[in-house]
Amino acid sequence: MNTFKKFAVLVAVIFFVTCNVANAENSISTTDAISQNFEGELDNYLNSLPHKTEAYKSKQRPILIEGAMNIEIEKFVYALKNPVVYKILNYVYIAGTYKNYPVVIARTEQGMENAAVSTALAIEHFKPVAVINQGTAGGHVAEAQILSVIIGDKYVNNSAYITENTPEGAGVKIVPQEMRGTFAYDKDEKTFKLYQEYFSDSKLLKIAVEVAAANKDFSTLKGTITSSDAWLNGIDHYKYLHKKYGSVAEEMETSAAAQICKSSGVPFIGIRAISDNIILSSNHYADAGNVSQDFVLLVVDKLIRNIKAGKF
Ligand code: SAH
Repeated sequence: MNTFKKFAVLVAVIFFVTCNVANAENSISTTDAISQNFEGELDNYLNSLPHKTEAYKSKQRPILIEGAMNIEIEKFVYALKNPVVYKILNYVYIAGTYKNYPVVIARTEQGMENAAVSTALAIEHFKPVAVINQGTAGGHVAEAQILSVIIGDKYVNNSAYITENTPEGAGVKIVPQEMRGTFAYDKDEKTFKLYQEYFSDSKLLKIAVEVAAANKDFSTLKGTITSSDAWLNGIDHYKYLHKKYGSVAEEMETSAAAQICKSSGVPFIGIRAISDNIILSSNHYADAGNVSQDFVLLVVDKLIRNIKAGKF
Protein backbone atom coordinates (compact mmCIF):
# COMPACT_ATOMS: atom_id res chain seq x y z
CA MET A 1 0.00 0.00 0.00
CA ASN A 2 1.42 3.37 -0.91
CA THR A 3 1.52 6.21 1.62
CA PHE A 4 -1.51 7.92 0.14
CA LYS A 5 -3.62 4.76 0.41
CA LYS A 6 -2.47 4.16 3.98
CA PHE A 7 -3.47 7.72 4.86
CA ALA A 8 -6.87 7.29 3.20
CA VAL A 9 -7.50 4.06 5.16
CA LEU A 10 -6.50 5.79 8.40
CA VAL A 11 -8.87 8.71 7.74
CA ALA A 12 -11.69 6.26 6.92
CA VAL A 13 -11.09 4.33 10.17
CA ILE A 14 -11.04 7.51 12.27
CA PHE A 15 -14.26 8.69 10.58
CA PHE A 16 -15.97 5.34 11.20
CA VAL A 17 -14.94 5.21 14.88
CA THR A 18 -15.96 8.84 15.54
CA CYS A 19 -19.38 8.32 13.94
CA ASN A 20 -20.03 5.28 16.06
CA VAL A 21 -19.04 7.14 19.25
CA ALA A 22 -21.34 10.01 18.29
CA ASN A 23 -24.19 7.59 17.57
CA ALA A 24 -23.61 5.78 20.83
CA GLU A 25 -23.84 9.12 22.66
CA ASN A 26 -27.02 10.07 20.85
CA SER A 27 -28.63 6.77 21.61
CA ILE A 28 -28.25 7.21 25.37
CA SER A 29 -28.85 10.91 25.77
CA THR A 30 -32.01 11.74 23.83
CA THR A 31 -35.31 10.36 22.73
CA ASP A 32 -37.72 12.09 20.38
CA ALA A 33 -40.73 12.61 22.58
CA ILE A 34 -41.29 14.28 25.93
CA SER A 35 -42.70 11.22 27.56
CA GLN A 36 -44.59 11.19 30.80
CA ASN A 37 -47.68 9.11 30.52
CA PHE A 38 -50.11 10.46 33.03
CA GLU A 39 -50.57 14.10 32.00
CA GLY A 40 -50.81 14.62 28.25
CA GLU A 41 -51.59 18.29 27.69
CA LEU A 42 -48.34 19.78 28.95
CA ASP A 43 -46.35 17.11 27.14
CA ASN A 44 -48.01 18.07 23.85
CA TYR A 45 -47.07 21.69 24.50
CA LEU A 46 -43.47 20.72 25.34
CA ASN A 47 -43.24 18.65 22.16
CA SER A 48 -44.40 21.67 20.14
CA LEU A 49 -41.58 23.90 21.49
CA PRO A 50 -38.15 24.26 19.86
CA HIS A 51 -35.73 21.60 21.13
CA LYS A 52 -32.13 22.66 21.70
CA THR A 53 -29.03 20.53 21.85
CA GLU A 54 -26.36 23.22 21.83
CA ALA A 55 -24.89 24.74 25.00
CA TYR A 56 -27.18 27.07 26.98
CA LYS A 57 -26.08 30.69 26.74
CA SER A 58 -27.27 33.49 28.99
CA LYS A 59 -25.67 36.74 30.14
CA GLN A 60 -27.23 36.31 33.58
CA ARG A 61 -27.22 33.07 35.50
CA PRO A 62 -30.77 31.66 35.44
CA ILE A 63 -32.98 30.75 38.38
CA LEU A 64 -33.64 27.00 38.37
CA ILE A 65 -37.12 25.93 39.52
CA GLU A 66 -37.65 22.21 40.03
CA GLY A 67 -40.80 20.07 40.18
CA ALA A 68 -41.12 16.31 39.91
CA MET A 69 -44.38 16.05 37.99
CA ASN A 70 -46.27 18.01 35.35
CA ILE A 71 -48.83 19.16 37.94
CA GLU A 72 -45.92 20.80 39.77
CA ILE A 73 -44.37 22.65 36.81
CA GLU A 74 -47.08 23.51 34.28
CA LYS A 75 -47.86 27.01 35.58
CA PHE A 76 -44.18 27.92 35.40
CA VAL A 77 -43.83 26.51 31.90
CA TYR A 78 -46.82 28.49 30.59
CA ALA A 79 -45.51 31.63 32.36
CA LEU A 80 -42.16 31.51 30.49
CA LYS A 81 -41.50 33.79 27.53
CA ASN A 82 -39.65 32.26 24.53
CA PRO A 83 -39.52 28.76 26.03
CA VAL A 84 -37.18 26.14 24.56
CA VAL A 85 -36.72 22.55 25.64
CA TYR A 86 -33.45 20.83 26.55
CA LYS A 87 -33.44 17.10 27.10
CA ILE A 88 -30.39 15.77 28.91
CA LEU A 89 -30.21 12.04 29.67
CA ASN A 90 -34.01 12.01 29.31
CA TYR A 91 -34.48 14.73 31.95
CA VAL A 92 -36.55 17.61 30.62
CA TYR A 93 -35.69 21.30 31.13
CA ILE A 94 -37.57 24.30 29.81
CA ALA A 95 -35.56 27.51 29.50
CA GLY A 96 -37.02 30.95 28.89
CA THR A 97 -37.51 34.25 30.63
CA TYR A 98 -39.87 35.39 33.36
CA LYS A 99 -40.15 39.13 34.14
CA ASN A 100 -37.24 39.64 31.74
CA TYR A 101 -34.95 37.36 33.70
CA PRO A 102 -33.69 33.90 32.60
CA VAL A 103 -35.46 31.01 34.29
CA VAL A 104 -35.04 27.27 33.74
CA ILE A 105 -37.73 24.80 34.82
CA ALA A 106 -36.56 21.25 35.55
CA ARG A 107 -38.96 18.33 35.57
CA THR A 108 -36.89 16.20 37.91
CA GLU A 109 -39.24 13.18 37.83
CA GLN A 110 -40.18 11.57 41.13
CA GLY A 111 -37.78 10.32 43.77
CA MET A 112 -34.42 11.07 45.35
CA GLU A 113 -32.12 9.69 42.67
CA ASN A 114 -33.94 11.46 39.85
CA ALA A 115 -33.96 14.72 41.80
CA ALA A 116 -30.22 14.46 42.47
CA VAL A 117 -29.31 13.67 38.86
CA SER A 118 -31.64 16.26 37.37
CA THR A 119 -30.22 18.91 39.74
CA ALA A 120 -26.60 17.98 39.03
CA LEU A 121 -27.10 18.03 35.25
CA ALA A 122 -28.87 21.38 35.50
CA ILE A 123 -26.11 22.91 37.61
CA GLU A 124 -23.50 21.79 35.09
CA HIS A 125 -25.50 22.77 32.01
CA PHE A 126 -27.28 25.99 33.08
CA LYS A 127 -25.05 27.32 35.93
CA PRO A 128 -28.06 28.55 37.97
CA VAL A 129 -27.73 31.41 40.43
CA ALA A 130 -30.20 29.67 42.78
CA VAL A 131 -32.23 26.45 42.92
CA ILE A 132 -35.81 26.25 44.18
CA ASN A 133 -37.12 22.72 44.64
CA GLN A 134 -40.90 22.80 45.04
CA GLY A 135 -44.13 20.88 44.62
CA THR A 136 -46.43 18.77 46.80
CA ALA A 137 -45.80 17.11 50.16
CA GLY A 138 -47.48 15.15 52.93
CA GLY A 139 -47.95 16.87 56.30
CA HIS A 140 -46.43 15.38 59.46
CA VAL A 141 -48.15 17.72 61.93
CA ALA A 142 -51.71 19.06 62.20
CA GLU A 143 -50.41 22.61 61.52
CA ALA A 144 -49.36 21.44 58.04
CA GLN A 145 -52.90 21.97 56.76
CA ILE A 146 -54.06 20.78 53.37
CA LEU A 147 -52.98 23.33 50.71
CA SER A 148 -50.80 25.24 53.17
CA VAL A 149 -47.27 26.15 52.08
CA ILE A 150 -44.21 24.77 53.83
CA ILE A 151 -41.17 27.03 53.61
CA GLY A 152 -38.22 24.74 54.18
CA ASP A 153 -35.41 25.90 56.42
CA LYS A 154 -33.79 22.49 56.96
CA TYR A 155 -33.72 19.23 54.97
CA VAL A 156 -33.11 15.68 56.19
CA ASN A 157 -32.97 12.40 54.26
CA ASN A 158 -35.07 10.34 56.65
CA SER A 159 -33.90 7.05 55.12
CA ALA A 160 -30.20 7.65 55.89
CA TYR A 161 -30.30 6.16 59.39
CA ILE A 162 -28.47 3.48 61.39
CA THR A 163 -30.50 1.07 63.54
CA GLU A 164 -29.34 -0.81 66.64
CA ASN A 165 -28.19 -4.44 66.55
CA THR A 166 -31.10 -6.77 67.20
CA PRO A 167 -31.12 -10.57 67.38
CA GLU A 168 -33.05 -12.82 65.01
CA GLY A 169 -36.69 -12.93 65.99
CA ALA A 170 -36.72 -9.42 67.48
CA GLY A 171 -38.81 -8.14 64.60
CA VAL A 172 -38.10 -5.26 62.23
CA LYS A 173 -37.05 -2.32 64.37
CA ILE A 174 -36.25 1.00 62.73
CA VAL A 175 -36.36 2.83 66.06
CA PRO A 176 -34.29 3.71 67.94
CA GLN A 177 -32.23 5.05 65.06
CA GLU A 178 -29.37 7.46 64.63
CA MET A 179 -29.09 9.70 61.62
CA ARG A 180 -26.06 8.71 59.56
CA GLY A 181 -26.59 11.33 56.87
CA THR A 182 -25.55 11.59 53.24
CA PHE A 183 -22.29 12.58 51.58
CA ALA A 184 -21.84 16.04 50.12
CA TYR A 185 -18.72 17.90 49.08
CA ASP A 186 -17.16 20.27 51.60
CA LYS A 187 -15.28 22.94 49.70
CA ASP A 188 -13.11 23.97 52.67
CA GLU A 189 -11.97 20.43 53.44
CA LYS A 190 -11.94 19.52 49.72
CA THR A 191 -13.58 16.17 50.31
CA PHE A 192 -17.01 14.56 50.55
CA LYS A 193 -18.29 14.48 54.14
CA LEU A 194 -21.35 13.13 55.89
CA TYR A 195 -24.06 15.71 56.50
CA GLN A 196 -27.03 14.90 58.72
CA GLU A 197 -28.94 17.95 57.50
CA TYR A 198 -28.89 20.62 54.81
CA PHE A 199 -30.08 24.21 55.13
CA SER A 200 -31.79 26.83 53.02
CA ASP A 201 -29.69 29.69 51.74
CA SER A 202 -30.32 32.52 54.23
CA LYS A 203 -31.18 35.12 51.55
CA LEU A 204 -33.64 32.81 49.79
CA LEU A 205 -35.23 31.93 53.13
CA LYS A 206 -35.59 35.63 53.99
CA ILE A 207 -37.25 36.31 50.63
CA ALA A 208 -39.71 33.40 51.10
CA VAL A 209 -40.58 34.50 54.64
CA GLU A 210 -41.15 38.10 53.45
CA VAL A 211 -43.38 36.85 50.61
CA ALA A 212 -45.39 34.84 53.19
CA ALA A 213 -45.76 37.90 55.43
CA ALA A 214 -46.93 40.07 52.52
CA ASN A 215 -49.42 37.52 51.10
CA LYS A 216 -51.75 36.44 53.85
CA ASP A 217 -53.99 34.47 51.49
CA PHE A 218 -51.35 31.71 51.73
CA SER A 219 -51.27 29.77 54.97
CA THR A 220 -47.56 29.13 55.56
CA LEU A 221 -45.39 27.22 57.98
CA LYS A 222 -41.60 27.34 58.19
CA GLY A 223 -39.79 24.14 59.16
CA THR A 224 -37.90 20.96 58.37
CA ILE A 225 -38.81 18.93 55.29
CA THR A 226 -37.80 15.26 55.37
CA SER A 227 -37.34 13.26 52.19
CA SER A 228 -36.91 9.65 51.10
CA ASP A 229 -38.19 7.35 48.37
CA ALA A 230 -40.85 6.13 50.82
CA TRP A 231 -44.46 7.25 51.25
CA LEU A 232 -45.24 6.98 54.96
CA ASN A 233 -48.74 6.49 56.33
CA GLY A 234 -48.25 6.02 60.08
CA ILE A 235 -49.21 8.81 62.43
CA ASP A 236 -46.80 7.50 65.08
CA HIS A 237 -44.07 7.49 62.43
CA TYR A 238 -44.90 11.16 61.66
CA LYS A 239 -44.73 11.97 65.38
CA TYR A 240 -41.36 10.25 65.63
CA LEU A 241 -39.92 12.15 62.64
CA HIS A 242 -41.29 15.39 64.00
CA LYS A 243 -39.80 14.80 67.45
CA LYS A 244 -36.43 13.51 66.23
CA TYR A 245 -35.81 15.72 63.19
CA GLY A 246 -38.40 18.50 63.54
CA SER A 247 -40.11 17.25 60.37
CA VAL A 248 -43.29 19.09 59.41
CA ALA A 249 -43.66 17.45 55.98
CA GLU A 250 -42.39 14.58 53.83
CA GLU A 251 -41.83 14.19 50.13
CA MET A 252 -39.39 12.49 47.78
CA GLU A 253 -36.95 15.02 46.29
CA THR A 254 -36.01 18.03 48.39
CA SER A 255 -33.13 16.78 50.54
CA ALA A 256 -31.54 15.08 47.51
CA ALA A 257 -31.58 18.37 45.59
CA ALA A 258 -30.30 20.20 48.71
CA GLN A 259 -27.43 17.70 48.98
CA ILE A 260 -26.33 18.33 45.38
CA CYS A 261 -26.61 22.11 45.84
CA LYS A 262 -24.46 21.83 48.98
CA SER A 263 -21.86 19.88 46.97
CA SER A 264 -21.93 22.51 44.23
CA GLY A 265 -22.12 25.65 46.38
CA VAL A 266 -25.39 26.77 44.75
CA PRO A 267 -27.94 28.62 46.96
CA PHE A 268 -30.95 26.39 47.62
CA ILE A 269 -34.45 26.47 49.07
CA GLY A 270 -37.28 23.91 49.20
CA ILE A 271 -40.91 25.05 49.19
CA ARG A 272 -43.84 22.61 49.27
CA ALA A 273 -47.63 22.78 49.41
CA ILE A 274 -49.42 20.10 51.41
CA SER A 275 -51.35 17.66 49.19
CA ASP A 276 -52.06 15.10 51.92
CA ASN A 277 -51.88 14.70 55.66
CA ILE A 278 -53.44 11.60 57.17
CA ILE A 279 -53.68 13.33 60.56
CA LEU A 280 -56.33 15.52 58.90
CA SER A 281 -57.74 13.56 55.94
CA SER A 282 -57.24 10.40 53.91
CA ASN A 283 -57.53 12.27 50.59
CA HIS A 284 -54.84 13.52 48.22
CA TYR A 285 -55.34 17.09 46.96
CA ALA A 286 -53.51 17.49 43.63
CA ASP A 287 -54.35 21.21 43.62
CA ALA A 288 -51.39 21.60 46.00
CA GLY A 289 -49.27 21.58 42.84
CA ASN A 290 -50.90 24.87 41.79
CA VAL A 291 -50.64 26.38 45.27
CA SER A 292 -46.92 25.67 45.42
CA GLN A 293 -46.35 27.23 42.00
CA ASP A 294 -48.43 30.32 42.84
CA PHE A 295 -46.39 30.92 45.98
CA VAL A 296 -43.05 30.17 44.30
CA LEU A 297 -43.85 32.59 41.45
CA LEU A 298 -44.08 35.35 44.08
CA VAL A 299 -40.75 34.21 45.55
CA VAL A 300 -39.16 34.18 42.09
CA ASP A 301 -40.56 37.65 41.38
CA LYS A 302 -38.97 39.02 44.55
CA LEU A 303 -35.72 37.14 43.93
CA ILE A 304 -35.48 38.67 40.43
CA ARG A 305 -36.02 42.15 41.89
CA ASN A 306 -33.27 41.45 44.45
CA ILE A 307 -30.90 40.17 41.76
CA LYS A 308 -31.56 43.23 39.57
CA ALA A 309 -30.94 45.51 42.58
CA GLY A 310 -27.61 43.75 43.22
CA LYS A 311 -28.90 42.37 46.54
CA PHE A 312 -28.49 38.68 45.72
N1 SAH B 1 -50.59 11.53 41.23
C1 SAH B 1 -49.26 11.04 41.45
C2 SAH B 1 -48.92 11.19 42.92
C3 SAH B 1 -47.48 11.01 43.16
S1 SAH B 1 -47.17 11.30 44.79
C4 SAH B 1 -49.14 9.59 41.04
O1 SAH B 1 -50.10 8.87 41.19
O2 SAH B 1 -48.08 9.17 40.58
C5 SAH B 1 -45.45 11.28 44.90
C6 SAH B 1 -44.89 12.62 44.61
O3 SAH B 1 -45.54 13.59 45.40
C7 SAH B 1 -43.42 12.69 44.97
O4 SAH B 1 -42.77 13.43 43.95
C8 SAH B 1 -43.38 13.40 46.31
O5 SAH B 1 -42.37 14.38 46.38
C9 SAH B 1 -44.74 14.05 46.47
N2 SAH B 1 -45.49 13.70 47.69
C10 SAH B 1 -46.68 14.28 48.00
N3 SAH B 1 -47.15 13.77 49.16
C11 SAH B 1 -46.26 12.86 49.61
C12 SAH B 1 -46.19 12.00 50.76
N4 SAH B 1 -47.15 11.99 51.68
N5 SAH B 1 -45.11 11.19 50.89
C13 SAH B 1 -44.15 11.18 49.96
N6 SAH B 1 -44.17 11.98 48.85
C14 SAH B 1 -45.20 12.81 48.67
